[in-house]
Amino acid sequence: MPATAKRLAAFTESVIRGTTRMAVQHGAINLSQGFPDFNPPQEILDALEQAARGDCHQYAVTWGAPRFRRALAAKIRRFSGLEIDPDQHLVVTCGSTEAMMVAMMTACNPGDKVIVFSPFYENYAADAILSGAEPIYVALHPPQFGYDPDELRKAFEQKPKAIVVCNPSNPTGKVFTRAELMEILELAEKHDVFVITDEPYEHIIYQPHEHVHFAALPGAFERTITCNSLSKTYSITGWRLGYVQAAPAVIAQARKVHDFLTVGAAAPLQEAAVAGLELPDSYYQGLTESYTAKRTLFLDLLRRTGLPFTEPQGAYYVMVDISPLGFASDTEASEWFIREIGVAGVAGSSFFREPVNHLIRFHFAKNEETLRAAGERLMKVAQIR
Ligand code: GLN
Repeated sequence: MPATAKRLAAFTESVIRGTTRMAVQHGAINLSQGFPDFNPPQEILDALEQAARGDCHQYAVTWGAPRFRRALAAKIRRFSGLEIDPDQHLVVTCGSTEAMMVAMMTACNPGDKVIVFSPFYENYAADAILSGAEPIYVALHPPQFGYDPDELRKAFEQKPKAIVVCNPSNPTGKVFTRAELMEILELAEKHDVFVITDEPYEHIIYQPHEHVHFAALPGAFERTITCNSLSKTYSITGWRLGYVQAAPAVIAQARKVHDFLTVGAAAPLQEAAVAGLELPDSYYQGLTESYTAKRTLFLDLLRRTGLPFTEPQGAYYVMVDISPLGFASDTEASEWFIREIGVAGVAGSSFFREPVNHLIRFHFAKNEETLRAAGERLMKVAQIR
């Protein structure tokens, strides 16, 4: 039998998705792979019914159905102030996952280096490797997940082609400040580097933190490739709707990559999601309030276990320090949590380049009842400790 491609040896299957499979197998409450257990807004569900009866069941325009792109451009303008041209600045993709792959393949030549903050959402390293690039890492130091400006400067001196910035950050919950983003921009300008941002949690931010759209920083638009998704904002992770937003010359190339990867995102779902993009500002306030309440509830429940954790500033993940439990590795701990406690979380080491294995990532994008049930199960930890 012929050998499969060598580049596949450089990364493993997704630990996040693997943990979900194990949670299902053992009937654990799944706080590993981040997705809600509640429905999208009713407006979107109604629009989906209507779309089913409409005539949008064949391929949409490869880079996105025009009506969807127009609504998307207006929504981006509303929150970032950027004048987005739906015909020049956008490619609609199958989730931010495809958007990131498209961005990486559009920006990088084989052999190029890409700066990735560590811990990082596990797709980034795989994306870089699949596009022939080599990830180089800059640590975000736990428990506060700040970076050392000197380390960042040194990484830029290695002549990278791009840097990936996930903001708000998965898995750390860090929200980059304007000053930090300006520092990244200055270095990117100095070394002529693309900034690939991944911003699916832009509307899930906790006071007093604020989301700054990287592309809207002065002078940033031309070198920024923004990747984003509708998954988290409208609770439609299964719809796989995302987009790349960039300057026209970049988009012209990104369209080609996207076309040959997937042809396009699902046409009826683009049609239905317009109802989400057109929701009023009050929807987003409601979303933030609802996640703020979930965060308060879940962090209170976690506090009762006695395990230390880092309070997230944005997104819906918490990195919990399991060192008081004395496990040899976080993978072993994660399996124990699933089997013995009945709650699934992701072994932190799958996000780190550094040998960090004392953290587990739980998420709280769940109904109050689910979170309370998980909290009750997690109380067993306090008894064992
Ligand atoms: N972003 C989610 C997480 O980190 C999962 C996304 C996915 O599995 N595609 O858990």
